[in-house]
Amino acid sequence: MDNRPIVIDGTAVVTLDPARREFATGHVVAQGNRIVAVGSGPAPAYDGARVIDGRGCVVTPGFVNTHQHLYQWVTRGLAADATLFGWLTTLYPVWARIDDESVHVAAQAALARLARTGCTTAADHHYVFPRDSKDLLEAEILAAAKVGVRFHPARGAMDLSEKDGGLPPDSVVEDRDEILAATEAAIDRWHDPAPGSMLRIVVGPCSPFSVTGELMKDAAELARRKGVRMHTHLAETTDETDWCQQNFGCTPLEYAAQLGWTGSDVWFAHGIHFDDAEIKRLGQTGTGVAHCPSSNARLGAGIARTADLRAAGSPVGLGVDGAASNEAGSLIEELRHALLFARARGGPQALDVRAALEMATLDGARILGRDDEIGSLEVGKLADLALWRLDTLEHAGIADPVAALVLGSPPPLELLLVNGQPVVEHDTVVTVDEARLAVQVAKVQQELVTS
Ligand SMILES: [Zn+2]
Repeated sequence: MDNRPIVIDGTAVVTLDPARREFATGHVVAQGNRIVAVGSGPAPAYDGARVIDGRGCVVTPGFVNTHQHLYQWVTRGLAADATLFGWLTTLYPVWARIDDESVHVAAQAALARLARTGCTTAADHHYVFPRDSKDLLEAEILAAAKVGVRFHPARGAMDLSEKDGGLPPDSVVEDRDEILAATEAAIDRWHDPAPGSMLRIVVGPCSPFSVTGELMKDAAELARRKGVRMHTHLAETTDETDWCQQNFGCTPLEYAAQLGWTGSDVWFAHGIHFDDAEIKRLGQTGTGVAHCPSSNARLGAGIARTADLRAAGSPVGLGVDGAASNEAGSLIEELRHALLFARARGGPQALDVRAALEMATLDGARILGRDDEIGSLEVGKLADLALWRLDTLEHAGIADPVAALVLGSPPPLELLLVNGQPVVEHDTVVTVDEARLAVQVAKVQQELVTS
């Protein structure tokens, strides 16, 4: 490990600090795992520092990915033209064949891709545990440690199969008591609540149509007893709303709320089909939403009311979602899609470029309960940052670096620091071998779809 201070000098800086300071030419200095200086003009001298020439670049806080299913990296491109429920029923039998090796490969690939696209903190939602599989949560935790990103995996689950009126087949659902015991064991083994933590566990039953109400309720009690966060899919499609009306006589949010699933320790993936009263309720309770615009458009599910949710007080983070419904898996592209789809839906004032950047950073940090440590470039915060190159043909001359980042094509990533350590340099992941991973992904994918 290289423990020299890292000085990034001569770069544009977008801090996202409380005053939202931006510098046309400035510096950021990381020492150990913390930021020790941020400002305009040249950096102060640091003995023995590694100095990075930031001219032609902009430095931002590292992005937070708030929703993903890493294992899906090895099941991309299937059911390319299906609805959510059709896509799920096609994919469940393929997913039933995943094991610790395929999850380990998929997770490394998906996390490497996230890192290459600006992500320093990744939440995951793993809910497929085929019978007799080895420890799949461990497989992805080890992958995150190899790639070097800050990791918040949800121990997900499904306990409502076809025979009980749910959507998934019997082979991928688990028994409720086993789920709760495995989730508690995962928290005890892995969850690190300490400042600067690289690993925190989340409790994450999958969705209303694949999980029993009893599990939702017990999972919420477990999460609160253990002091960890809670995550599930909610209000993704109108099919889901109809399903909840038929089965419970209420909307997905009313159902979730009855089971204890609102509050500042809860965030929902998607959150598309909420009415005005529900948005108010989410804001008042501080319940978060992981907005996944590419996946939502890929499945034609609709687009969340991001501006209304944020105005109501709900933190809205960005997520790539699983790669089976977003083959790109690129977090920087979600900023652009969030902005474009918000404006296509709500008009030209629906979302501005800096709000898109805030969703990817500060809102994501708030959703994970870490806005005191990450999400902005401030002295004392963790050294999680992205240095984007804006002087090549794609971006040179774009007047505003934030507009270049959000409206332009994905820029080369000159440097990504996580916890003060380089994970990407010169647009290449330096912690794992991307080319080797690509070969492994293709092999695992073949085995899964043809076996
Ligand atoms: Zn999802």
